[in-house]
Amino acid sequence: MIRRFFGSLSLCCALLCFLAGCAVNPVTGRNELAFYQMSESQEIEIGRKVFPQAVQQMQGEYSDPALQEYLQQVGLRLAAVGHRPGLPYAFTVVNDSSPNAFALPGGRIAITRGLLGALENEAQLAAVLGHEIGHVTARHAAQGMQRGILLELGMVVLSQAATGSPYGTLTTQAGQMAGAIIDSSYSREQEREADRLGIDYMVKARYNPKGAIELQEYFLKKSEGEGAPGWLAGLFRTHPFSRERMQANEAYIRGRYPGALQDPASSVGKEKFAEATRNIQATRGAYEKYDRARDLEKKGDAAGALDLYEQACREAPEQALLNSGLGQALVQAKKYSEARDYLQKAINLDGNFYGSRTALGYLFLKTGEHQEAVQQLKRAMDLYPTLGGAFYLAEAYENVHEPRKAFDLYRQVAAADRNGRLGRAAAQRAQDLALRYGIR
Ligand code: ZN
Repeated sequence: MIRRFFGSLSLCCALLCFLAGCAVNPVTGRNELAFYQMSESQEIEIGRKVFPQAVQQMQGEYSDPALQEYLQQVGLRLAAVGHRPGLPYAFTVVNDSSPNAFALPGGRIAITRGLLGALENEAQLAAVLGHEIGHVTARHAAQGMQRGILLELGMVVLSQAATGSPYGTLTTQAGQMAGAIIDSSYSREQEREADRLGIDYMVKARYNPKGAIELQEYFLKKSEGEGAPGWLAGLFRTHPFSRERMQANEAYIRGRYPGALQDPASSVGKEKFAEATRNIQATRGAYEKYDRARDLEKKGDAAGALDLYEQACREAPEQALLNSGLGQALVQAKKYSEARDYLQKAINLDGNFYGSRTALGYLFLKTGEHQEAVQQLKRAMDLYPTLGGAFYLAEAYENVHEPRKAFDLYRQVAAADRNGRLGRAAAQRAQDLALRYGIR
């Protein structure tokens, strides 16, 4: 009787697995129900496609090759002792001020300049990266309803990319997906599991696991002291902290790895970390001004923002993003010749941030340098397709007498933004072009 019950239960499970998709969890070795079944090569492909978009949304890469190299070293030291050492892991510092970190399926992992600036040693960094690697090895992204739907959307993105349309569809699905993945939270149980896996990987890689406790202590103190300030919001939403979680981690370390906290051979890496993050500390004040400028801009105080952008740029003149911010504010103020210098400098320092390219392309539209406008806006759209970028590029195509290309792009903007101001303007322009040139 009992055997029959279990027999039919496992049959039922098998059927459910067949319908909903089942995957062997690389960490637990158990079959599990996944809302969207995905092969390892699909995981890798989604990460590869979506990651560049996510980086653009997080203010681009932080340009500091020595720091990027250091991060990669620490990350790989942990990944090598994890459950899926064969994945093509890649670790990137993104230039966002809010403290955050995220992992995409397949092993693409990012940490913000803001979080790196708040840490004190390499063991704490290893705690962050170990936790993110844990989300990857346990395939947390493929579990859970919300993320399952996201990843299904990811497969749609992949299949569309294969059709070869120049910017995919202009709805920027890869971009939307990147945003949704960065923002969506894991379940409490997934957070616990990633914490434990991160600690396991730290100990195996000979890091002192006290980094994991310090990390949570720091953020807990921050959240209690300052009442969940805005700059913590992202991290709290994606990886919620609690005193209980911190205590659970400490108990796990003491129970599973007695003596690890006092092991003199395990590394904390205070000096090495301070050396690697030197530039972040040196430019901290300048970026604080930049962030305040962006706040003022949102509140409509353009003059106050411009003043702060100028101060930030004077303080750290070799930071691409600060030049970009000042250049964009000058474009807003219609000071085109000044703006051009800063945007050009931003692009020379880092040519892979869409914001600088879009702003310079727009500037060239205004100054009547049409070929240059096409060139910059095309590059911006390759980096990160936006509706605004597409609209300006279409306008630039009109100016260099390529009405067919302009028409196609306006149509894409109109389709993607049917009821918006930009979409309606694009529809009107497409119609005008059709009449004038007989395009259908
Ligand atoms: Zn997490």
